[in-house]
Amino acid sequence: MIGELYVEDKSRLAFEPTTKPVPADERAKLLADPGFGRVFTDHMAIIEYDESKGWHDARVTARHPFKMDPASPVLHYAQEIFEGMKAYRRPGGGVALFRPDANARRFAKSAIRLAMPPLPEEMFLESVRGLVRADREWIPETEDGSLYLRPFMIANGSFLGMRPSTEFIYAVIASSVGAYFKGNAPSVSLWVTREYVRAAPGGTGEAKCGGNYAGSLIAQAEAIRNGCDQVVFLDAIERRWVEELGGMNVFFVFDDGSIRTPPLDGTILHGVTRDSLLTLARDMGAPVREEPYSIEQWKADAESGRLTEAFACGTAAVVTPIGRVKGVDGEFTIGGQSVGPLTMRLRSALVDIQRGHAPDPYGWTE
Ligand code: PMP
Repeated sequence: MIGELYVEDKSRLAFEPTTKPVPADERAKLLADPGFGRVFTDHMAIIEYDESKGWHDARVTARHPFKMDPASPVLHYAQEIFEGMKAYRRPGGGVALFRPDANARRFAKSAIRLAMPPLPEEMFLESVRGLVRADREWIPETEDGSLYLRPFMIANGSFLGMRPSTEFIYAVIASSVGAYFKGNAPSVSLWVTREYVRAAPGGTGEAKCGGNYAGSLIAQAEAIRNGCDQVVFLDAIERRWVEELGGMNVFFVFDDGSIRTPPLDGTILHGVTRDSLLTLARDMGAPVREEPYSIEQWKADAESGRLTEAFACGTAAVVTPIGRVKGVDGEFTIGGQSVGPLTMRLRSALVDIQRGHAPDPYGWTE
């Protein structure tokens, strides 16, 4: 029982335990092989907003469907934002969140970009902590297992006028997950889309809003059609600078031991994993550059052997090596068949901190 938690504005995060929890034996079956994003827990957190009351009725309650008016603005104008983060089991029986304050800040920034009321960071943190406490039994005990948390905010109400809503629902749901990429392949293959762009300067690229993802699904489908796992997007203006994947940032490793990743110029997501890996790489002594990298250079460097490793990173996929890159103008591979040593070193350093297998000198886990 989590009891009552107090949030910054003194409104209470109430706990209303479900009266119909999934029986323990059924839960154990689900957790044995949860996959990604299809096993959900018993509870959800909700906080409501309207202009007169502000944020109110904060609660952790039984997971349930929403009842919405068909003229609710989120259904028409996609006024929606979300986050993605994980809770991990720790040795000795504890549970830890990884850098939840970074997600709280990014969520508030996304809200402002989508003309929504930013949720106070402390409320965000309390809602996530409250849900994890209620559903901690849902964290798989498998090696790759974690509880994926999905905070989100939608515009509610009933009007079709083109203006920001005045009513919002913020909620957090949780999903028991295993590895994001299944199968034994040590790396992912990428499709370079020339037809579609994900984000343009002045657009919503660095906000985590649903519309960005709706717009990228067709490019992801194009990747699959071309025999690749994921799509990689180029910039909207020159169509040559590598930006990011549909849901992951990208890193390049060179034969002199240096690392490069595209800069945060407004069109790519400020990944929490990206930021953490930059810190870990610097502290390992690797020269790190946040600079644009063109697709032509990527191909040339892969072919000359100057580029020795490349990887994608994000909360869901952690650190995943990139093996093959394909586009309309040909295909190239990176490194040999094996996973690069710096990629694996960075991955282990990150995962060991997240899962409590190594000390956390950065204060990232709580
Ligand atoms: N880019 C995009 C477009 C994403 O959706 C994500 C996942 N949130 C990332 C990068 C990686 O971000 P993070 O490391 O914070 O999960």
